Amino acid sequence: MTTPPPDATPGPPPGPTPGPTPGPASAKHPRLDIRAFVERVAAAAGPDGRLSPAQVADAEIFPFEGPLRVKELAAPVEPEPARAGESATDCHNCALPDTTYLWTSTHWRLRILEGRAVPTLMLEPRAHLDLADLDDRAARELGALTVAVARALEAVPGVARAHVHRWGDGAAHLHIWFFGRPAGLLQLRGSCLPDWLDLLPPLPAESAQAIGEHVAQALHWPER
Ligand SMILES: [Zn+2]
Repeated sequence: MTTPPPDATPGPPPGPTPGPTPGPASAKHPRLDIRAFVERVAAAAGPDGRLSPAQVADAEIFPFEGPLRVKELAAPVEPEPARAGESATDCHNCALPDTTYLWTSTHWRLRILEGRAVPTLMLEPRAHLDLADLDDRAARELGALTVAVARALEAVPGVARAHVHRWGDGAAHLHIWFFGRPAGLLQLRGSCLPDWLDLLPPLPAESAQAIGEHVAQALHWPER
């Protein structure tokens, strides 16, 4: 797993007639101004061009200690490289058989990922769609299913919280992550859990599978 990616990606400004050199963002033409973003980072950096790690490194949930150096922010890349499986014909998720999944419905499939330190489930649409591609029906189902999976996962003894993530920067086919955060392990709270998962030893496969099957059986979902 990789470090959680940013919450927005560079792209052309929205609007009916964006020009090649857009002017400042405004209420009428809002956009995430990447040039200004990079300039802010440069202004906030120290004499060595690097940001201070203090705010992250001092956090209880951060998995590392000792002298740290923040990476320099690389220049923006446009266009971005293609993600894995941008088309359905070369999509890993589309090619997986139903037998890979714990639970399936007409439009959705849920599987458990082994080799992770905490119960890790993944919810995917059957169709080759990304989040913004979902129609109203699928969007409603995703909302209801997200609640249902989180509720079932949080009902597993030892699970304090279901963390729910969608990044979408690696594989194009929509996949929603559900992590069962272990009860009482306060350092695993919050946004650093995916980093801890690259460090901690995995759950035994039979334990992960048993928890996944428990979640699937507890999933209250009327077929539609
Ligand atoms: Zn796909």
